[in-house]
Amino acid sequence: MNFPTTRLSRLRANPALRRLVRQTTLDVSNLIMPLFIHHGNNIKNPIPSMPNQFQWSVDRVTEFARQIYDLGIPAVLLFGIPARKDPIGSDTWDDQQGIIQNALRALKSAVPDLLCITDVCLCEYTDHGHCGLLTERQGSQIIDHDATCEKLALQAISHARAGADILAPSGMIDGAVASIRAALDENEFKHIPIMSYAAKYASAFYGPFREAAQGAPQFGDRKTYQIDPANSDQALQEVKLDIDEGADIIIVKPALSYADIVHRVKTTFNVPVAAYNVSGEYAMIKAAAEKGSLDEKAATIESLISLRRAGADILITYSAPDIAQWLK
Ligand SMILES: [Zn+2]
Repeated sequence: MNFPTTRLSRLRANPALRRLVRQTTLDVSNLIMPLFIHHGNNIKNPIPSMPNQFQWSVDRVTEFARQIYDLGIPAVLLFGIPARKDPIGSDTWDDQQGIIQNALRALKSAVPDLLCITDVCLCEYTDHGHCGLLTERQGSQIIDHDATCEKLALQAISHARAGADILAPSGMIDGAVASIRAALDENEFKHIPIMSYAAKYASAFYGPFREAAQGAPQFGDRKTYQIDPANSDQALQEVKLDIDEGADIIIVKPALSYADIVHRVKTTFNVPVAAYNVSGEYAMIKAAAEKGSLDEKAATIESLISLRRAGADILITYSAPDIAQWLK
């Protein structure tokens, strides 16, 4: 390949040529829209740090879910904001009163073919805001991973009973996928897939989400269970463990600063990979667009395409409805 015989600009000369040789596409079929379900009635609370995102009560969310389905988006990912929190997060396995259980019943009856994925974690339901049960070691409060797994299994089965299509454990709790898989299999839910947040980093980009889900830790941080942003081999170890424990889809979170992780996971394991384009990434583009520094549509599409190019099959993104409109 030598100039002047080879001129790479030839294939970039017009839109049709560029389209013909385009390797990566963005398709509405690969999008998942996160939704925040708030206790109470008739609620559509704007989330100040995430423009155009809302907390929804169960009675209001079905209408929005119908719009999402009609746009061609195949799935939503549900986070709950319960009326009551306690040290063990017991709302999460309450078949009758649980916020997510009620949302699932309403959504599956209103929009039966929209896939409902549920966040399986304790942080939105515990009064201390950590992702697991606490215990004490040498005077400090730490996460008891093994005891947490038992509660996550209860939560998972309760979500499955209420109609969840896919379960997404997000707490980076050791052994969580194995516990959830075993509990599902013992309770006639062998068919329900697990989409595991296997590579979840202790990231600064989650800031706006904590306001949205009202699940910020009340003391300390999550660095003892989420991955150090400086590491990538640990992410591969985490992913291997989760695949061995029965995970069907692997999530890398956050996405944009972790495209190398998406790429390594995809090329090493060749399993379905979802990149979670997190709240901070969403908010950055929104803020820059509001200032007139960026073209919101072009920047959003380019950043999501970059994740597909890195190897993501699935994109979890707050921009899903916008993308669906733009792709029409
Ligand atoms: Zn959590």
